[in-house]
Amino acid sequence: MNKTIFEKIASKEIPADIVYEDDLVVAFRDVRPVAPVHILITPRKAVPRIAEALPEDHAMLGHLLIKAAEVAAKVGLEKDGYRLVINNGPDGGESVPHLHCHILGGRQMMWPPG
Ligand code: AMP
Repeated sequence: MNKTIFEKIASKEIPADIVYEDDLVVAFRDVRPVAPVHILITPRKAVPRIAEALPEDHAMLGHLLIKAAEVAAKVGLEKDGYRLVINNGPDGGESVPHLHCHILGGRQMMWPPG
């Protein structure tokens, strides 16, 4: 299997502005930000999308969400808040088939989303 772009970022084969990493997840700034703060947090494991996560991914996914909140706090979003987004499949707007959670902040988010 070819590596996904996010696996290559995690292994430092391609550059990214990494803001947090550990054994299970890597967080880095989105290359095309749609908010003043736009970070992606992704598992090192190449789960394509949340719909394809397995029971064995349970702990890793919990870890990813806990770390998403920690990363948001670390970059100064704790006080005013932020949005976490996971796009799944074509209607969800997914463009990279490697599970990732967007951390968006630094401006008022709209509801409903576009
Ligand atoms: P999604 O549309 O939910 O699949 O989100 C994929 C995100 O990955 C988009 O916001 C892209 O801007 C972002 N992206 C794609 N390639 C890179 C890269 N090399 N470094 C950082 N972010 C990227």
